[in-house]
Amino acid sequence: MARVLYLGGLGRSGTTLVERLLGELPGVVALGEVVHLWQRDIRDDERCGCGARFSACTFWRRVGERAFGGWDAVDVERIHALRDAVERTRHIPRLAATAGSADVREYAGFYAKVYAAAADVACAEVVVDSSKHSALAHVLRFAGGVDLRVVHVVRDARGVAYSWTKTVARPETDGAQDMTRYSPARSAMLWNAHNAAFGLLARRGVPVRRIRYEEFLTDPRAALIRLADFAELTPAPADLAFLRPGHADLKVGHSAAGNPMRFTVGRLPLRRDDDWVRALPRAQRRLVGAVCAPMLRAYGYPLNPAAPEEAC
Ligand SMILES: [Zn+2]
Repeated sequence: MARVLYLGGLGRSGTTLVERLLGELPGVVALGEVVHLWQRDIRDDERCGCGARFSACTFWRRVGERAFGGWDAVDVERIHALRDAVERTRHIPRLAATAGSADVREYAGFYAKVYAAAADVACAEVVVDSSKHSALAHVLRFAGGVDLRVVHVVRDARGVAYSWTKTVARPETDGAQDMTRYSPARSAMLWNAHNAAFGLLARRGVPVRRIRYEEFLTDPRAALIRLADFAELTPAPADLAFLRPGHADLKVGHSAAGNPMRFTVGRLPLRRDDDWVRALPRAQRRLVGAVCAPMLRAYGYPLNPAAPEEAC
């Protein structure tokens, strides 16, 4: 049975960073955001984290052959139809309350096949999927043959909101597209909804480990050891030698989709990005702080962090 570590949370919360560090551990294969595999990779042939087009990546070709007898055999239309029918944030209450419909099980089955094949091809004990979406995490509860564990990555809603306002190019499209942007009001609403959904998943009996992005970067080594333990891995000290003071040395990965950080090879700075404290306009800080106040408080974030003048 494939042991799957699913990284969940609203985008721009640090899931890619966590995934890249996990992917360096022996026994782990990190797949990126598998939720986008069907369209961006099988259909659009975007770039793998290794830099090659998806169709030219040996790792993914072998996964496709093992899982489906080749990617050509995958009915992407069917997967999209199933996704539209079951994997929506508005469906989470129903997903959480039921035993899973035939559609939910069929949709989850496509992911289970990818996970099992990737574990085989990489000779890995643990597969990391950083898809993030809370609705997919609820769907995967019904994936047969998957030992699902969820790492819920939380970041201060105001840092997340600031990040969503920035323009970031998508390197895999060679400059043709930027990443999605959201207004602070929109990202605040999404932050509440997605984080609440992971709380609900934990109450349904799925092992969920919540980590705070800011804490993770305060002591990445200790945080990574705790996550490895959650995945039943026991890295030796030498396995963590890639973690240096202030940065990590990364090898090539085969992330299918996600944040541009998935392409980083070599030195990755391990530094908290707190630019929002200075750069997010005061009115937007107040708005996001107010909308997200109950959960910010529950996660231990100060409602009034240092004002911009004090932080400088
Ligand atoms: Zn690759």
